[in-house]
Amino acid sequence: MVAARGPAADTVTALSTETNRPLEFIDTSFENASPVWYEFAPDGTVLVHLLYDHERSSPNRAAGHIHFQLHAKPGAKLTLEFLNLDNVWNGVSGSVARELKVVVVSEDGRNWKPIPLESLPENRVRLHVQMPGPRLYVARLQPYRLSDLERFLAGIRTNRLVQITTIGTTVQGRELEIVRLGNAQAPSRVFLRARAHPWESGGNWIVEGLVRRLLGDDADARRFLERYCVYLMPMANKDGVAAGRTRFNLQGKDLNRNWDKPADPKLSPENAALEQWLEKMITSGQAPHLAIELHNDGNGLLHISCPSVPELPRYLERMTLLEELLRKHTWFTEGATKGSFRNSGTLGDGWLERYRIDALVHEFNANWIGGLKDYPSGKHWQNYGEKLATVFYDYFGSAKPR
Ligand SMILES: [Zn+2]
Repeated sequence: MVAARGPAADTVTALSTETNRPLEFIDTSFENASPVWYEFAPDGTVLVHLLYDHERSSPNRAAGHIHFQLHAKPGAKLTLEFLNLDNVWNGVSGSVARELKVVVVSEDGRNWKPIPLESLPENRVRLHVQMPGPRLYVARLQPYRLSDLERFLAGIRTNRLVQITTIGTTVQGRELEIVRLGNAQAPSRVFLRARAHPWESGGNWIVEGLVRRLLGDDADARRFLERYCVYLMPMANKDGVAAGRTRFNLQGKDLNRNWDKPADPKLSPENAALEQWLEKMITSGQAPHLAIELHNDGNGLLHISCPSVPELPRYLERMTLLEELLRKHTWFTEGATKGSFRNSGTLGDGWLERYRIDALVHEFNANWIGGLKDYPSGKHWQNYGEKLATVFYDYFGSAKPR
């Protein structure tokens, strides 16, 4: 894979002429940019080495977040190959290449369009792109940065239906907030968390859509909020998002693991803060009746994890109801994990096992939305979030609070 190697340095220089290397620079100096290094193959292909982030006390590692800006002459045709896709997940090696089928590009960082990737044998993945101007952003998913969250929160902060509470800080000291929407006295409560894994921006777009719908101040929105109150942790792994990491927090902890035991406040303060908040809610009789952990992957399933608890039959019944309502009111078609599926330590499994809260992980397919026959986008995910408002209304109408 290493090009331009060997004793013939003059040849290397010759190969480096502008015609052979139309790329001027890959800029990763900005918020949420993925750390990369790159080199050139003899045919001019840009070999983009993504950097792994690593889990503490574990063989697990992850790369796959892509977000950088290409600098090249307008009209230049570039071929990029993404390297270091050999992730380790739950202790098992597996290339993320199979889940990497499309990226999005944008000239201004706001308006994005999808470009399918070329899959080659041996888990190789290539992007062919023509520069529309001198600069072009490339991203795995439509980015949602810290500044996007700050702008969003600033826009809703003074709404009388919104209460934003700081519950703790990240490893690097960023404030972690819980957003409450509606009346705390409503009979049902739903909790959603986004962005435990920094590359998975979908959850943030969904949260935005849900919030905008519920703040619509129309008859339906008022009716929804009479039945349920929403609690959101909009961005769990803020440090990871800022630094352009893929999966872990800055101390190498996976924030969607280890929920089977109390969180370590030093190593995963993001989870420790949430756990403390949750336990306070439980003590004050305000435990969420439903908790959804939002993620992206290559499948988009509901992860219905089955710990051995007496409440399991009730839980499975309600998850069936939830899936039916998602199919009815949204573009969801992907389905759920089957049988005795278990993914211990996820928020879904851990909250059910430890706190007896009906909880699940909702993955969203990062490559394709089957129900819309289209590529994923912030707009489609926002639309899903809007429809969730109706899903919750029906869900809490049928599933009586405990
Ligand atoms: Zn995830």
